Amino acid sequence: MTFRAPVDDFQYLFDHVIDMEMVSKTEKFADATNEMTSAILGEAGRLCEEVIYPTRREGDLTPAALVNGKVQSSPGFAQAYEAIKGGGWVSVGASPEHGGMGLPMALNTAINDMMSAANVALQLNPLLTQGQIEALEHHASDELKSIYLPKLISGEWSGTMNLTEPAAGSDIAAVRSKAEPNGDGTYSVSGQKIFITWGDCDFVDNVCHLVLARLPDAPAGIKGISLFLCPRNLPDENGVPGVANSLKVVSLEHKLGIHGSPTAVMEFDGAKGWLIGEKNNGMACMFTMMNNARLGVGAQGIGMAEGAYQHALAYAMERKQGKTPVEGGTGTIVDHADVRRMLATMKAEIFAARAIGLACAHALDMRDGTGEAEWGARAAFLTPLAKSFGSDTGIKVAEMGVQIHGGMGFIEETGAAQYARDVRITAIYEGTNGIQSMDLVGRKLMDGGEAAHALLDEIEAHAEEARACRPRMAGLVWDATETLREATEWMVSQKDVNERFAGSVPFQAGFSRVLGAHYHLKAACAEDGDGPRSKLARFYINRLLPEHEALLKHATCGAADLYALSTEDLGA
Ligand SMILES: Cc1cc2nc3c(=O)[nH]c(=O)nc-3n(C[C@H](O)[C@H](O)[C@H](O)COP(=O)(O)OP(=O)(O)OC[C@H]3O[C@@H](n4cnc5c(N)ncnc54)[C@H](O)[C@@H]3O)c2cc1C
Repeated sequence: MTFRAPVDDFQYLFDHVIDMEMVSKTEKFADATNEMTSAILGEAGRLCEEVIYPTRREGDLTPAALVNGKVQSSPGFAQAYEAIKGGGWVSVGASPEHGGMGLPMALNTAINDMMSAANVALQLNPLLTQGQIEALEHHASDELKSIYLPKLISGEWSGTMNLTEPAAGSDIAAVRSKAEPNGDGTYSVSGQKIFITWGDCDFVDNVCHLVLARLPDAPAGIKGISLFLCPRNLPDENGVPGVANSLKVVSLEHKLGIHGSPTAVMEFDGAKGWLIGEKNNGMACMFTMMNNARLGVGAQGIGMAEGAYQHALAYAMERKQGKTPVEGGTGTIVDHADVRRMLATMKAEIFAARAIGLACAHALDMRDGTGEAEWGARAAFLTPLAKSFGSDTGIKVAEMGVQIHGGMGFIEETGAAQYARDVRITAIYEGTNGIQSMDLVGRKLMDGGEAAHALLDEIEAHAEEARACRPRMAGLVWDATETLREATEWMVSQKDVNERFAGSVPFQAGFSRVLGAHYHLKAACAEDGDGPRSKLARFYINRLLPEHEALLKHATCGAADLYALSTEDLGA
């Protein structure tokens, strides 16, 4: 089985659906011309197909291991990483001031998507470095920037994020790790962190940990958390990694998937650290990294969905079973109606999720390119949708991939199961999808629904235009948008936030459903005649869009019936 990078799909999305030309018209991204974008997509695609994808299975079979307190990566990972580093692919979006290429986030997101399809366990390493680079660019002192950014951007060093502790998972306010001032501007950081992705690495020269901890006398809760940079090896006066810091990997987790990605329990024992941003403002700084990673995790889900889809399609084109109803067809299971339904669903969902992720990245680029607050609000609103719909799509599509393989899907050697195992984590880390939905109906509607309604206005305006070329599909998208508008108004009108939370996950899914239809409609309208984009849009709008009604009804039920069921009624 091989992997074919979906470069043409990205190109179509950039040209006809999310308007990359708008981004390249800003001064900041003037270099990101269509020609350059195409060339970069092509190069990245080749790297993913030829160098990264061949390491995927090996990472599953030979997990990262802890040997004498150091992480030993899976076979082939170091060589593949060398190619990622050598090609400058660790962070194409990083600022040119410290050696980055300064390319748009939309392009970075496309690369993350393809790299995740090729080998997500390895891709997690540069993904976290990318987030750390962005956090340091925004919040670190000039001195720290000059030491750390060039090394992180070149990929010589890698970055991690250290939030989670045994009693502080979704509830970051419960973080207990401590930081004592050393009196020389540095701090001693102590505490245990769990589930730290790539907590150590044997193919970089240094690992830089961003750690949340509390200063003495810090206020309780989220307002008393600060952020520290603790490198594995302390850079000497020339910036060369020297003496080992007082921190170590205690153990690695045994996991359902992403075996090639070491997930570490970390012990910080008076580790030397440097404050990032203001004291007690650590969460705001960490959010720069987390928002970057949320979009990245959505792209991971979509990338793995792509891999699972290609795998399942190849199998369906070969496997013969029973008499198929298509005259002159392939004679394989791809001609059975139910297998066709699954394949079409997979393809249509991937397109919708990819468009939502790229629309979020596009809004970030426009925010950075124009400085306009509306783009920032759009990006903030789309972030939980990109993360949750991307990851939920990955899980759904990978599960369908197993189903298409029949019994062989349950057999590890086939490879379909690895996608289903690897992708499962994407709905959990970087804030579970439940937490994403609470952010969506809570913080992201605190503007009274302004950002949401601006998006809905845009969808309806496009649907009005589209009535000229695709009248039936446009009408269905317009009607669905009105139902979504009513559900959004209901959410905004709930003063008790738990009423919103009781339906936040179906609201998040319903919003994504409608948004996905909008992007499918755009893709159909850009095509001459009834080509593959239009047929796929019709499939999505006829069969998947109607789910929004049930989801949005569920979303607006309120909390009473949930709590009417007592814990005893639940069988506790
Ligand atoms: C493989 C892997 C890699 C990871 N990598 C990192 C990393 O690099 N750095 C890092 O810091 N962390 C990392 N994590 C941790 C990850 O981010 C957390 O597991 C995740 O945020 C959930 O926290 P938790 O596991 O404590 O679950 P809990 O917070 O205990 O959640 C359990 C359930 O309760 C729900 N829940 C919790 N609170 C609420 C609430 N207020 N309202 C409604 N529902 C709620 C959750 O949605 C979930 O369904 C990783 C985890 C794994 C498994």
